[in-house]
Amino acid sequence: MLGIKELKERIKTTETTVECPVKRCKVNVKKMNRGDQKRLDSYLDKGKTSEARDVFRDYFCKEHGIYITPTTFIYENYRDNLLWYDGGDKVLFDNMMQVKRVKYQLYHDNSEDALSWNVFRFLERTKLLHRFLEGLHNSLVKSPEVIYWSYSQSQQKVRNELEKARAEFWESPQRSSEPDLVVKSDDVLFFIEAKLRALNKIDFNKNHTAEDRAERVRRYSKGDYFLNQPVENIMDAGYYQLMRFWLIGALMADNENLNFYLLNLVRKNEEKDIELEFGKYIKQNEKREFMRVTWEDIYKYISTTGLLGEEKDKMLGYFRNKTIGYNGKGELQKAFSIP
Ligand SMILES: [Zn+2]
Repeated sequence: MLGIKELKERIKTTETTVECPVKRCKVNVKKMNRGDQKRLDSYLDKGKTSEARDVFRDYFCKEHGIYITPTTFIYENYRDNLLWYDGGDKVLFDNMMQVKRVKYQLYHDNSEDALSWNVFRFLERTKLLHRFLEGLHNSLVKSPEVIYWSYSQSQQKVRNELEKARAEFWESPQRSSEPDLVVKSDDVLFFIEAKLRALNKIDFNKNHTAEDRAERVRRYSKGDYFLNQPVENIMDAGYYQLMRFWLIGALMADNENLNFYLLNLVRKNEEKDIELEFGKYIKQNEKREFMRVTWEDIYKYISTTGLLGEEKDKMLGYFRNKTIGYNGKGELQKAFSIP
């Protein structure tokens, strides 16, 4: 796994080439554009890794097993992006991959998917997760089940209750809302929407037609009861994605008589006003709430627990070493604001 310690502080790019970001590596590859990257992603999404290596060899550093872009890199094998992939972790991860809808991001160094797995699988295994969640809202989190990208460990498939809530909004399986994480406990349901480099706000109208918009408005307006403003206002404000998670989570919690929290996991210095910004569009009360949480909060929580040992050190080292790739000037960017 490659981070601050292994990567060059600065990389050189020309009109047509990019250098390998790994320290002391002399390899220069062809510069990848957006179209090339999309094509590569579609190979990886289908698991065609050996074909990808052949078709995209001009962008690949053989020695380090990465595809290089001007701002980041993509692992040839997603295992290199994962901290935990042994024994039970492997079984769970492989099962989860059977149902995960979008897979290519797991190969990307700067995606939130590998980060989410690395952090939440650690919290789950060390039994720290329920205490972290309890600290956020001051009530007990009993017998939590962690659902990674819709995959329920107890049901060994997409969780029934989630499928049902999606169906109530007529979501098709290929385009259904896939929360990064769901934690279901005896009394509380948590949805966690994780962000690393991307922001919550997305201009829906830029990539969709007026008909698309009208169709979404019709479907999600069924959840008006959970909202303070009409669906179209929320979509136009850029919060289509968060709104879907809010509606599906709130409905799922209602169906099972649970309290609901939508946690938006972001970096400390990003989207500081999101609670106010998105919060004004939704109906919050003692049963359901939207909350901003930072990756740095989790780092701090882990570092102050009494837990000792190699795995904790590995986890904290990962946070400190994590980058989000290179900026436009070719300078390496540290992911988190931690000492
Ligand atoms: Zn290299």
